[in-house]
Amino acid sequence: MSDTDYRRRGYIEIEELKKLGLIPPKDRLEKGPVAILECPEQIPCNICVPFCPTKAIQMERIIDIPRVDWNKCTGCGVCVAVCPGLAAFVVDLSKPEADYVTLPYEFLPAPVKGDSVVLLNRRSERIGVGEVIRVWERNKTYVVTVKVPKGFGMEVRGIWVERR
Ligand code: SF4
Ligand code: SF4
Repeated sequence: MSDTDYRRRGYIEIEELKKLGLIPPKDRLEKGPVAILECPEQIPCNICVPFCPTKAIQMERIIDIPRVDWNKCTGCGVCVAVCPGLAAFVVDLSKPEADYVTLPYEFLPAPVKGDSVVLLNRRSERIGVGEVIRVWERNKTYVVTVKVPKGFGMEVRGIWVERR
């Protein structure tokens, strides 16, 4: 597997994200909600940087890969709302009963709290069912927090809301 196989494949694997240094260390993941920016390309975008309320995202040049100072990150989800590439997520692996994933959603119908939704992995494969815990919206992007089975927090990167 080369470092850039994801370009040909069309999705990135967690091992590739780890190699790029984009996954927080285990102890930080277990501490509470934290942002993961799955943004490995050197593209001219830095919107997440000025919007982060704690200045946790660093980037020297606009084409750099954004780096999160995970100790400054509060898991607020603002980067999830503003990222035009839908590449920002917040995961919370700190709870014993379940994991929680906050992700962007731009389809209709919009999810609502209490919905049961299909969970998708990075390949867009269905891997289970989760429960919507919180939804807020910014500029037509829904920021959705989903309760997922324990152990799924690093796998779930999309949801699908069945038409009601
Ligand atoms: S979750 Fe909030 S604090 Fe953390 S990097 Fe994103 S915007 Fe910044
Ligand atoms: S806003 Fe999204 S696409 Fe742009 S640099 Fe940040 S994570 Fe990458």
